[in-house]
Amino acid sequence: MSQKARCYAEISRSQIAANYRAVKTAAGPAADVICVVKADAYGHGSVEVSRTLCREGARWLAVSSVEEGITLRRAGIDCRVLVMAGVMPWEYEALREFRLTPVAHSLDDLRRLDEVRTPENAAPIDVHLKIDTGMDRLGTLASAAEIAAVVLALRNVRVEGLMSHFASAADFNSPQTEDQIRLFEAMSRELNELGVRPPISHFSSTNAIAFPRPGATLSMVRPGHAIYGYVSNARGTFRAPALHVSPALSWRTRIVTVKDIPAGAKVGYGGSFVAPAPMRIAVLAAGYADGVPHRLSNKGKVIAGGTLAPILGTVSMDLTTIDITPTPQLQPGDEVTLLGREGDVSLDAQQIARTAGTISYNILCGISARVKRFYVD
Ligand SMILES: *Cc1c(COP(=O)(O)O)cnc(C)c1O
Repeated sequence: MSQKARCYAEISRSQIAANYRAVKTAAGPAADVICVVKADAYGHGSVEVSRTLCREGARWLAVSSVEEGITLRRAGIDCRVLVMAGVMPWEYEALREFRLTPVAHSLDDLRRLDEVRTPENAAPIDVHLKIDTGMDRLGTLASAAEIAAVVLALRNVRVEGLMSHFASAADFNSPQTEDQIRLFEAMSRELNELGVRPPISHFSSTNAIAFPRPGATLSMVRPGHAIYGYVSNARGTFRAPALHVSPALSWRTRIVTVKDIPAGAKVGYGGSFVAPAPMRIAVLAAGYADGVPHRLSNKGKVIAGGTLAPILGTVSMDLTTIDITPTPQLQPGDEVTLLGREGDVSLDAQQIARTAGTISYNILCGISARVKRFYVD
C-alpha cells in the first residue's frame, strides 16, 4: 500500500501479532512473555505496538525508562510495565502513580525504592531484582547472603522478580551463556534457602529464545527483536532456530527529482562518486536525518522499480541519490523502498546493517521521528 508522505514506515499489526504468537510457541506453555517495547518499540511506535500486543493477550511490556512507561500509561495501556534501564532520583514517585515496575540493579536501588514516600496502608511496590551473572553491565554483584539481608528487611518493596541478561546467547563458540545460567541457578537456589523466593524469574531475550539452552527459559522470556521480526545469526554449532518471525516494518520514500548526468559528473558532497558513463539518477526524499546511515554512502542499495539500485555518492541529511539507469520509467513522486519488499526483491534491517557496519537493532531504532508511521492490519 502506498501512503501520502515523503518518507514513511508502514508497520503491520498482524505481523507483530504473528511474531508474538511465534515467540509464545517457542517459549512453551509454561513461560509468559514480556514484550520489550523500549526505544519506541525499536522504531515501530510503542503505543500502537503495545496496543496490538495487549489485544493479542500480552500481559507484560518492558521499556527502558520511566518516561517511556508514562507514555504507555497516558495512551491508556494497562498491561504490567517493567522499567529495565534504571530509575532517576526524580522519578521515584512516578512509579506508584503510573503503576510501573522498576528493575533494581543494586542493593542501594532496593533501599532507595524502599524509602520512597508511601501512602498510608498502600500495598508494597513490586520490583524485579537484576543479578549480574557476567555481562558486567547492569545488575548486582552482591552475594545471596547480602541480597537476602536487604530484601528481608524491605517494608515498602516486594521483590516480585529475579532476572538477568545474556551477553552472548547466539554465540555457541563461547561458554559464557552456560556460565551465566549456572550462576543464576546457584543464586536462585541460595536465595531460596535464605527465604527469598520471588514468584517470577526471567533471563532470555530473542537470541536465547531462538537458540534455547537448558535452564534459560524460566517463568518468563523478554523478547524485543523477535517481536519486530528478527533473530540474530548464531555462531558455532547450534540447532536451527526454534523461532520463525518476519519483519513487521517497511520503510519507503519518494523520488524528488530524476535527471540524466554525463560521464565524469561528480555526485554529491565531496564528489566521491564520479559517473563512469552517462547515467540516470534519482534523488530521494530521505537522508541521514531520517535514519539512512551515512555509512551507506557509495555502498548501500535501495529497491527502485522492483530492482536493487545502488546509492551514489554520500548520503546527505535529507537526500540520497541512487542510480536508476536500468529503470528509466521512474518519475518524481514514485515510491522507493529503503527497507522492505517489492515483488521478489527485499532488503531487511540485517542486510542494511551489514553494509553499514552496524547491527539491525541500530537500523530500526535509527529510523527517526521525522519518518511518519502508518499502521496496517
Ligand atoms: C533490550 C532488552 C531485551 C530485548 O532484547 P532483544 O535482543 O531485542 O530480544 C531484553 N532484556 C533486556 C534487559 C534488554 O535491555
